[in-house]
Order: sequence, then structure tokens, then C-alpha cells
Amino acid sequence: MICLWCDEPILPGERFVDCLSGATHQECMLRQVVGSVAHQMKLCNCFIAGSKAGDPDTVTRREAARVAADLWFRFTQFHLDD
Ligand SMILES: [Zn+2]
Repeated sequence: MICLWCDEPILPGERFVDCLSGATHQECMLRQVVGSVAHQMKLCNCFIAGSKAGDPDTVTRREAARVAADLWFRFTQFHLDD
């Protein structure tokens, strides 16, 4: 399976969400819900008119999703394993 968000393969043992339109890595699904790091820090154009802040273009889409998901976990101290 290929992740709908990052276009990387979903490998055996990786957590993913399967829905009607396809599958996404768990972190990629979470990124779509909670937003980028910039969004969570209220630095994107949702909060600052004209802001260009978003996912960094120096990392892959999945890497950006991992960082966004990790930040969300740190903010909420919520873990899907709990
Ligand atoms: Zn993905």
C-alpha cells in the first residue's frame, strides 16, 4: 500500500489508517487533522495574515508529518498506545 498523504509505502508493522479512499500512515493521518507544526504554533496564515509558514520544504512530507504528530503528542501528552 502507498500512503495517500506522503506517497511512501506503508511497510509491514507500520501503523496506518485504512479508509474508503485508501490508507495513510498513522502520523500522516494525524498531520491532516492537527495541522503542521507552524499551524499548531499559530504561525501559519490561519493565524497571521500573509504568513508563508507551513510544512518545511527541506524534509519529506512524511518527516514533516512525524514532527507534527510528535509535537501534538507533546502538547496533549496523549498517546495512542494508552
Ligand atoms: Zn504517509
